Amino acid sequence: MNKIDYYDVLGVPRNASPEEIKKAYRQMALKHHPDRNPGDKGAEERFKEAAEAYSVLGEPQNRSRYDQFGHQGLRGETFSGFNSTVFEDFEDILGNFFGFNFGDLFGAGTRQRRHQPQRGRDLALEMEITLEQAAAGVEKEISLNREEPCPVCQGTRMKPGSKKGACLACGGRGQVRHQQGFFIMARTCSHCGGSGEIITAPCEECRGAGHIRRKNELRVRVPAGVEDGSRLRISNEGEAGERGASKGDLYVVIKVKKHDFFEREENHLICDISISFVQASLGVTVEIPLFEGGEKVRIPPGTQAGEVIRLKGRGLKDLESRRLGDLFVKVHVQTPGDLSKDEKVLLRRLAELRGESLEFIDRETVRKQKARGPESRH
Ligand SMILES: [Zn+2]
Ligand SMILES: [Zn+2]
Repeated sequence: MNKIDYYDVLGVPRNASPEEIKKAYRQMALKHHPDRNPGDKGAEERFKEAAEAYSVLGEPQNRSRYDQFGHQGLRGETFSGFNSTVFEDFEDILGNFFGFNFGDLFGAGTRQRRHQPQRGRDLALEMEITLEQAAAGVEKEISLNREEPCPVCQGTRMKPGSKKGACLACGGRGQVRHQQGFFIMARTCSHCGGSGEIITAPCEECRGAGHIRRKNELRVRVPAGVEDGSRLRISNEGEAGERGASKGDLYVVIKVKKHDFFEREENHLICDISISFVQASLGVTVEIPLFEGGEKVRIPPGTQAGEVIRLKGRGLKDLESRRLGDLFVKVHVQTPGDLSKDEKVLLRRLAELRGESLEFIDRETVRKQKARGPESRH
């Protein structure tokens, strides 16, 4: 919905002084006041518009935000954001002219909005898990200290069995009225906040607060694929709100412990294995200690040192797309340096069979062999 410019609503220039704004608002308010225009919906609309415009332009902070960002800059702030100075101004401007209670016009009662119960605080805690748990997902029990609704009064703040009494300040009406000359003034009772009732016997358990700090056990489900630093938001598991207002949220920040065998890169798993040069030459099957049991990987004959074998879909699940990453196995080839006499004989015999010199490799051979690196196989 396109909103009308607040300066246009009050009919003042953008550089109007606070006095000019106040004066313009006062004229508008008097002209369109519902008491003066009974049954005129159009007048009531304009009256509300003017009040809204003044709640913004009459308050320097709101005004500068509005000047910079327009209506966007005030999102959720205009009417719920009535602050006391502006409110006093409303009363000052209107209350002295009419027997007028601002709250009546806007439904809930503006004065009470200022004392709107606060939503509970958000909580955050850190949870350490293993890479295995990050891969498969895990459910963990956590304990946290937080403000909870009082178990004795269920958040009502009253001693069980006690009743509320009529507010002494307003006699239970919720409003304080008094006559001033011609006019009847009405204000929301500040003692009871307009409800007309007060608590006569506060709950002893929570001393009338309605909530109490308690240690609490909670099961948290960590989905498969979380990463180090992932933040899980668990709605309504934060602290209790004031007087029945909604609870805050709980944020669980995941820390994934370093794994002693696998490294993680996004959703891929990377590991290093070592085989002997004989196994590399003849080929061998290696069981990779993947989380759920092992993963058998065939190392083909003639595998070179440094070659990487990729197993599609054997990595971790992506938290959002649920796509699986891959497993990369990097092969290292060990050269034995502790040969026995018999082994030396065997290897010399092998060299002989292959026509490999154990004394001298000439430059032509060196040049040819350089090309046979790990990459040249594929
Ligand atoms: Zn209580
Ligand atoms: Zn009262």
